[in-house]
Amino acid sequence: MSDPTRYKTILIFGAPGSGKGTQGKIIGQIPGFYHNSTGDIFRSLDLQSPMGRTFWEYAGRGELVPDEFTIRLWKQYITGKEYTNEFHPETEFLVLDGLPRNKTQAELLRDTIDVVAIIYLRADKAKMIERLRRRALKENRIDDASDAVINKRMEVFEKDTRPVLDAYPKEIVCRIDATMSQIRVLSKIINILVPLKERTDGNGGAPHPNGAAVAARVLTRQAAIKVQAQTVS
Ligand code: ADP
Repeated sequence: MSDPTRYKTILIFGAPGSGKGTQGKIIGQIPGFYHNSTGDIFRSLDLQSPMGRTFWEYAGRGELVPDEFTIRLWKQYITGKEYTNEFHPETEFLVLDGLPRNKTQAELLRDTIDVVAIIYLRADKAKMIERLRRRALKENRIDDASDAVINKRMEVFEKDTRPVLDAYPKEIVCRIDATMSQIRVLSKIINILVPLKERTDGNGGAPHPNGAAVAARVLTRQAAIKVQAQTVS
């Protein structure tokens, strides 16, 4: 049975350059799925702000932003999306791209997300590096700017991010060959999402039956975010 106190979540998982963002954005257009990328949240920060500077300092070296900072920022962001009625956790899946990126983050999110599927986009390293180089030219991304930074990001994926898979049951991990055409990768992902969605729509897509628990969760989270906002500012 699904847990009404946590977001029903699908992780888009894979190394830098595997296409998580591309696929995540498309999935986020499908009714019932809300896409969220930590990289995009970080890139939207004001560069002059302390938070923006922290991000660039780490991303510019190809490293992960510190865990507590990342999780606090993400929780504030996603709660804001609930407040503004853009994300409806009672009826929508949260599609997370870029989070959790290590085992500590998975642990810090344990009470917040209920991971129901992990879509693991796989490609060989050379292919992903080639894509990152191309993206650096097109999108002017500081974290893809040099081979040294790209290599560091790959190393971080192998050492810290890949082990995240061990934190979840093997049965929910779906491996997809990310070197196929984008539309074919998408079609494989859709094949995974359709039964998940139809299963949750079994109750007619109605709001979660345990409305009181959901309301309690939202109130608790709102209180926590207020406290966090005071400590951050
Ligand atoms: P990619 O799609 O190439 O993997 P992202 O856009 O997801 O890159 O992330 C860009 C950078 O933002 C990362 O290299 C890292 O510095 C930072 N970042 C993104 N997500 C996280 C996270 N969950 N924890 C720590 N740092 C993160």
